[in-house]
Amino acid sequence: MKVVVLVGGVGGARFLLGLKAALGLPPVGAAPEGSPHEVVAVVNTADDVWLHGLRICPDLDTCMYTLGGGIDPDRGWGRADETWVVKEELAAYGADPTWFGLGDRDIATHLVRSRMLRAGFPLSAVTEALCTRWRPGVTLLPMSDDRVETHVVVDEPGGERRAIHFQEWWVRHRAELTAHAIVPVGAEQAKPGPGVIEAIESADAVLLAPSNPVVSIDTILSVPGVRDALRGTSAGVVGLSPIIGGKALRGMADACLSAIGVETSAEAVGRHYGGRPAEAADNTAEASPPAEAADNTAEAAGSAAGVLDGWLVHSTDTATVPGVTVRSVPLLMSDVPATAAMARAALDLAGVTVG
Ligand code: GDP
Ligand code: CA
Repeated sequence: MKVVVLVGGVGGARFLLGLKAALGLPPVGAAPEGSPHEVVAVVNTADDVWLHGLRICPDLDTCMYTLGGGIDPDRGWGRADETWVVKEELAAYGADPTWFGLGDRDIATHLVRSRMLRAGFPLSAVTEALCTRWRPGVTLLPMSDDRVETHVVVDEPGGERRAIHFQEWWVRHRAELTAHAIVPVGAEQAKPGPGVIEAIESADAVLLAPSNPVVSIDTILSVPGVRDALRGTSAGVVGLSPIIGGKALRGMADACLSAIGVETSAEAVGRHYGGRPAEAADNTAEASPPAEAADNTAEAAGSAAGVLDGWLVHSTDTATVPGVTVRSVPLLMSDVPATAAMARAALDLAGVTVG
């Protein structure tokens, strides 16, 4: 079975650990030879940024370190046993920016990546090369090899309105400056990364991880061709809500949702993703009992740009999304077994069963 997952950083990486477990794969590390199951993660790259001459890809690295066993488990990003000497030395020079967490071990990854990019290798090839060390056990595909960077329109403390890089807004300002707009700059001209469209087209199930809907999932969907591939694949497409009880867990996704005028609720995010044309999936849970929240009203044909067949919300939440089968299951990624149960529920809703 081939499962394709659209992911951001921390939420996406944690979900992938559970998905691997649900498929009988070791959560951390390489898949055993001859495993019948394959996971392909299409990873958001719109958080990426050049700092101090280094190309930093936070979501790719979070996935790679988490699945490869190198992550700092407390922070959820960056390397375990990290030291910060280079960051201190840069600050001593007054070299801006000083607000970004660049650890010494992490810098080695950025050095290898930046050197390969400058030598002309595309990000997808660089990622593959880095993964030969980490062996994450899933194929990590950058959403695009082209430069796409999320910018956020804010009013500076001085009063001037300008667009700043997502990282400056998120890390430096802790998303406390009101965002007037969030724009994936470069997306319109970007091409999907090698293998991205093919993976979606040939998948048995496509999942949208419980990642940030605006700056992780929407940015992937903004790469031309990706949304159409999701709308056209014969695989069932199922999303997992990152919003529980009207709150974003671990993070500031609510600040992103308000910027695009979407309420912070599981239902609003499900409607934002939208239902896809009914004829697209031929193997989804059509046989769902009517007691479930499958919407069979006149609106059930899905929305003009929708991508979902199924939407999983947390046990305490309810949602109605036109054209989409909604199920409530526990969605707290408290440990790998709990996350594996979420993944099984998502696969089941997508119409595939893991033996
Ligand atoms: P980032 O790129 O590191 O911000 O990570 P992602 O975009 O992949 O995931 C961040 C999102 O994960 C946040 O918006 C959270 O709402 C969501 N999240 C974090 N932990 C959980 C959890 O245990 N359950 C669910 N359902 N969502 C979670
Ligand atoms: Ca991210």
